Amino acid sequence: RTRTKEFTALTRSLNRMASQFRQDIGELKQAQRVQSEFIGNVSHEVKNPIFAVFGYLEALASDTLPAEQRKRYAQKGLANLHRLNNLFSDLIEIAKLEYREDMVRPETFDLQELIEEIGEMLEPKAVDKGLELSFENPSVMVYADRNRIRQVLTNLIDNAISYTDEGSVRCRMRRHLNQARVEVVDTGRGIGAEHLDRIFERFYRVDTARSRKMGGTGLGLAITKQILEAHGTTPHVESTKGRGTRFWFELPLEGSDEADSLVPEAEF
Ligand code: ADP
Repeated sequence: RTRTKEFTALTRSLNRMASQFRQDIGELKQAQRVQSEFIGNVSHEVKNPIFAVFGYLEALASDTLPAEQRKRYAQKGLANLHRLNNLFSDLIEIAKLEYREDMVRPETFDLQELIEEIGEMLEPKAVDKGLELSFENPSVMVYADRNRIRQVLTNLIDNAISYTDEGSVRCRMRRHLNQARVEVVDTGRGIGAEHLDRIFERFYRVDTARSRKMGGTGLGLAITKQILEAHGTTPHVESTKGRGTRFWFELPLEGSDEADSLVPEAEF
């Protein structure tokens, strides 16, 4: 009887191992799928502007091109080079974050000052579009990687301005338990419910052509998510199509338990 028991126990643990193994293989396959999809996307995104630049330069090299067209082609060639440049910067960012997923260089800083700094930088773009850009920020000391959080907020506010045609973009901050909660709210075109789950994926855009035209790489929110996850937090979004969008995230306040769990690591 002892033997039967032993045998049953052994069978059970073998079964457990087999099912764990199946799960691991499944996850590995999924990771491989995501990876090869990413590589496919990258080559597509890179090839398009390169071919466009070839095309414009070849046309420009011909003697017969009227002066008026020459200028237009040169501008289009430049716009494509800008796109490539943005794409490379974002890809390098992703690679860095990927390899050193949990590397953040936290310090104590005043979030209000950072938000004001970003506001000054993005104000001209908002003014250009006739949007009201406002900030309601008390002084709050947080413990996080200042440069990375600058990237996150710049992405969110810049997107809010890009995808809003009239009304306002507001950045608000308040204390919430041990955290500072930051939100970026716009009165823009909003995001349909069917897209909301996917906008943090690499290269996912609601309207690809429009986003590209505005210089978007489709990587901004993926980078935002990666940075926040490296801080042990995550971005949230709520949106109503045609009405506007609200992104928010939380950061540990200086001296909180959450801050203590963010250990400074080696440099990026
Ligand atoms: P992109 O470079 O295209 O802006 P992001 O990763 O920053 O890439 O954003 C992904 C997509 O999410 C955008 O293409 C856009 O469709 C949508 N999106 C992001 N922010 C907003 C917003 N504030 N309002 C409406 N749509 C947004």
